[in-house]
Amino acid sequence: MNQSDRDSLAGPGPLLLVPDAVLLPEGPADGWAVTIDNGRFEAVGPADELERTHPQLPLVRLPGHLLMPGFVDAHHHLTQSFGSALAFGEPSEIFRRVWVPLEGALDEESAYTAAKLAALEAMRGGFTTVTDAGTRAGVDVDVVASAARDAGIRCVLGLVCNDAEAADDADDEDATDRPAVLEQAEKHLARYDGDPLIHPSLAVSIPEAATERTLHATARLAAEAGAVVQIHVNEHLAGVERSLVRHGLRPLEHLHSVGALGPQLLAAHATMLTPRELTLLADTGTAVSYNPVASAWKGNAVAPATSMAERGIRFGLGTDGTRGDGFRLAEAAEFAQRLAYGLATGDSSCGAGWTWLERANRGGADA
Ligand SMILES: [Zn+2]
Repeated sequence: MNQSDRDSLAGPGPLLLVPDAVLLPEGPADGWAVTIDNGRFEAVGPADELERTHPQLPLVRLPGHLLMPGFVDAHHHLTQSFGSALAFGEPSEIFRRVWVPLEGALDEESAYTAAKLAALEAMRGGFTTVTDAGTRAGVDVDVVASAARDAGIRCVLGLVCNDAEAADDADDEDATDRPAVLEQAEKHLARYDGDPLIHPSLAVSIPEAATERTLHATARLAAEAGAVVQIHVNEHLAGVERSLVRHGLRPLEHLHSVGALGPQLLAAHATMLTPRELTLLADTGTAVSYNPVASAWKGNAVAPATSMAERGIRFGLGTDGTRGDGFRLAEAAEFAQRLAYGLATGDSSCGAGWTWLERANRGGADA
């Protein structure tokens, strides 16, 4: 590729791109091309046809390349980059020992640097969108937005809305005053109007980290704004058992009981699901981020993703900050299903490769 082609590709178009192959929903198509304008795919079709119908467009040939939709990382923590070397070798609930203290020690500059490093790694791995589950760093979340924007990646940006400790102290579950956390949530949802790269989202670390009122209210606010609420759900045995002791319900059941399930919820992990919880996910249109590599370094289990696909449950794939390479993530998604489910049942397909490739882009975009 010459320098002028490189310069063209750095811009928003319009362009006619002619790679060796284009990845379509049915599979790779040789001799196809795409037109892009303003950074968006405008037309996809056989190269000779598009060259004939768009003679005015600057044409860039991409020999040896496959052109495909970008990968979507449905679960990331952009400000945890400096702890990547600490993943693996820790028992479950590593967040208590490593992530929360690490993020709590970040200032603006280090949070920005960590987030930008994560964003650049994601782009190198073929991701064009990352979903940040909300930083616990004591900085304005706009620092993360700036890092994503400067790197040039689309970011679903979570704002942490935890308020359970405060409510426990004040014993004010029934109080009528509107918690500050919801005012901040509303401001955050309106903050990035018209921003081409930043899509605001709300986040609750785990169901027990927010009051029932806030779980319910964040679901409603996000649904009204067309945004998602991200919550780590049913990830570890310890969390499931705490919920059972406290509420007599598993975390996902508890969220259902307070009206927090629905298309606006992006449930991270969901590794430990009962058949009833699978039905709740399917019936409510709740989305899941299946994070196969996270199961290898801190999991009690692997999400039953082949079953979720069969049940029509919406889900994408998430790196959780580890395995920032879209193809390797999709491979891990299949591999984990084979070990956790396929071996025992003689299912040597486990959804086949295309299931996981599709979940790594289109499924993630939907979730
Ligand atoms: Zn997470």
